[in-house]
Amino acid sequence: MLTTNNLGYPRVGPFRELKKANEAYWAKKITKEELLNTAKSIREANWKLQKENGIALIPSNDFSFYDQVLDLTLTVGAVPARYESLLDKIDGEYNLDLYFALARGFQAEGVDVTAMEMTKWFDTNYHYMVPEFTKDQTFELTSEKFLNEYNEAKALGLDTKPVLIGPITYLLLGKEKEAGFERIDLIDRLLPVYEEIVSKLAAAGAQFIQIDEPYLALDIDEKVKALYKTVFEKLNAAAGDTKLIATTYFEALKDNEDLALNLPVHALHIDLVRGEDQLDTILAKVPASLTLSLGVVEGRNIWKNDYEKSLAKIKQAVDALGKDRVWVGPSSSLLHVPFDLDNEKNEESLPAEVKNWLAFAKQKLAEVKDLAVLADGEVDAATTARYEANKEAAESRRTSPLIHKPDVKSRVSNITDADATRTSVFAKRKEAQKAKFGLPDFATTTIGSFPQTKDVRKWRADLKKGVITQEEYDKAIAEETENTIRLQEQLDIDVLVHGEFERNDMVEYFGEQLAGYAFTQYGWVQSYGSRCVKPPIIYGDVYRPQDMTVRWSSYAQSLTDRPVKGMLTGPVTILQWSFVRNDQPRSTTTYQIALAILDEVQALEKAGIKIIQIDEPAIREGLPLRKADQKDYLNWAVRSFRVSSSNVDDDTQIHTHMCYSEFNNVIEDIAAMDADVITIETSRSQMKLLNAFAGDFKYPNDIGPGVYDIHSPRVPSKDEMVDLLRKAKAVVPAEQLWVNPDCGLKTRAWPETKAALESMVEAAKILRAE
Ligand code: GLN
Ligand code: ZN
Repeated sequence: MLTTNNLGYPRVGPFRELKKANEAYWAKKITKEELLNTAKSIREANWKLQKENGIALIPSNDFSFYDQVLDLTLTVGAVPARYESLLDKIDGEYNLDLYFALARGFQAEGVDVTAMEMTKWFDTNYHYMVPEFTKDQTFELTSEKFLNEYNEAKALGLDTKPVLIGPITYLLLGKEKEAGFERIDLIDRLLPVYEEIVSKLAAAGAQFIQIDEPYLALDIDEKVKALYKTVFEKLNAAAGDTKLIATTYFEALKDNEDLALNLPVHALHIDLVRGEDQLDTILAKVPASLTLSLGVVEGRNIWKNDYEKSLAKIKQAVDALGKDRVWVGPSSSLLHVPFDLDNEKNEESLPAEVKNWLAFAKQKLAEVKDLAVLADGEVDAATTARYEANKEAAESRRTSPLIHKPDVKSRVSNITDADATRTSVFAKRKEAQKAKFGLPDFATTTIGSFPQTKDVRKWRADLKKGVITQEEYDKAIAEETENTIRLQEQLDIDVLVHGEFERNDMVEYFGEQLAGYAFTQYGWVQSYGSRCVKPPIIYGDVYRPQDMTVRWSSYAQSLTDRPVKGMLTGPVTILQWSFVRNDQPRSTTTYQIALAILDEVQALEKAGIKIIQIDEPAIREGLPLRKADQKDYLNWAVRSFRVSSSNVDDDTQIHTHMCYSEFNNVIEDIAAMDADVITIETSRSQMKLLNAFAGDFKYPNDIGPGVYDIHSPRVPSKDEMVDLLRKAKAVVPAEQLWVNPDCGLKTRAWPETKAALESMVEAAKILRAE
């Protein structure tokens, strides 16, 4: 069989063991040793699983307690200066406490530092901790995690392939924290540390090292292009006999093809899922010394591989290069897919017919192996049988009435411009809404969710298990909702929310109620740190068979005279955070969802809910990585949001919310969504993100810039929030400003939530008085 090359494996564990251990450690419920042991057994299980499933090149150093970029920041000694005061408070070989302080902030023992910034990993829903660089930045080797994990596997009898994020990608992923330099120029200082890493791994006996340089598949400038060759020359020299694999994913190489193909490395990995059409030109150019690793099994989605299609590609490469110079693997790390389909046993949420179309991480390993065997030609009976089954599954997906609903398809093809435009312009709507709600300047609100305490999660689990009845569950949710309404009244918040206690997750909750969706029991993927999401699976045409949110929103509204916001998740976010069909364009699926959300918006409006928030935190992350593809995406993404929110009264106030996003190049598109109010995450950036709203293009509608970081348990002071609001007022006219936290409060505990919101309302009142 051909060589099988896996790029990375999910590390939270099949049942989120790492998440649980991390959180228990943070809560001081388990010792550091217990946490380290959990981590160790996850690594061991992952390596063994890959071995058993026929993977030749098994990754190591793909494990992380929180984030692989943060690991690297600690490895190359790039800890920002503000954490220095912590250094003497922290002990331990792995510097685990310092590491978690960088990730989560630290507020104790008289020290108070915020967490590092976090942002999305390329166009995935994984978040990494953004490296911070200064002009005088220095680097030194300060952790041997990469070596320890390599040796740990070796002690188990496994010679793994250590994985490193490449030095150019690492610098590009970071941020300059002061003016006067370009971070890419730090490469000369960073490279020696990488050379040290590579030579240590070589000395330890590593045969291969995987260097991830996804920027090779992105738009990069001439200066960066010029660096790649010298950087890899140096790494290659440091590697000695150890073979380097330059790894690209998430896009096609395009204009960087020649550059990537001529790097002084043993092998180059290319993504043949996202870069489906790049094989022809690449094969025409592959130098005689280079091995090509073909990413044919999708690392970011859960569909069974189409063996026929993949084999055609692999055979084409084998014909050109020979069997020895062609490897088979997933398109990217498998970090972005759930662990194991075999754990899914609930036929009601995941029908057998649908399950038969899927493959999770473990199944993808087997697919990689099957393809490597099939392409080789010497095929055993079991593999042949799996090939036949694979063809049958593909055929059933093409024709299944579970998937194809003609009514839904025709409703989408009949969408008109009028369906995507509100009746009146914003200025006129603002008048109507002022008359209707009479809200003050600097109106206060929250983003939707309130703490999802243990109790709340237990009610849900107990309901599922049949431990409590639907009636008992509803009663508990109703009480929690009522308490939250009362609390918001006491706090004197202007626009209330019901708290989202009935929701497990902002996408899954809708997925469960929409047709065309399946969902899993254990299909968790890491979002950031210990946070995992369980994306539902869109397998068929989507529509809304019944009301989804009207009941709890109306109930909350019935308890108070203040307006309660209805809470929906927007079409693009539902798409982005689901596993989506690969048998029709993403835009078609999104329009189907948009129409379903519109149906819900209108039902809420009819029930008297006149402020409706349609969350679109994922709009920015869905932006294609290559500039050339972005316009088309923005057109259909914005239009989908408009389809979901336009067909309403002037005095119905549409909010949208976006989490941390770089708005710079997309601000006009965000404005084109024409939401009456947008709330965004700005506190960690000290309001700098707001500049995008007040540059040459002035964002016309209302804005609620987040005034406190909800990702950290730290409670901001009133003064801090006043300070942030003054900064906001300096760039955006006061009449346009709202006051709110960065995001929903579901991950927070009650005491810190109350304290922070109390200060937030005080801060808003101070601003009103100024
Ligand atoms: N309404 C959601 C909440 O408050 C929004 C979450 C998000 O933007 N990620 O939890
Ligand atoms: Zn958010």
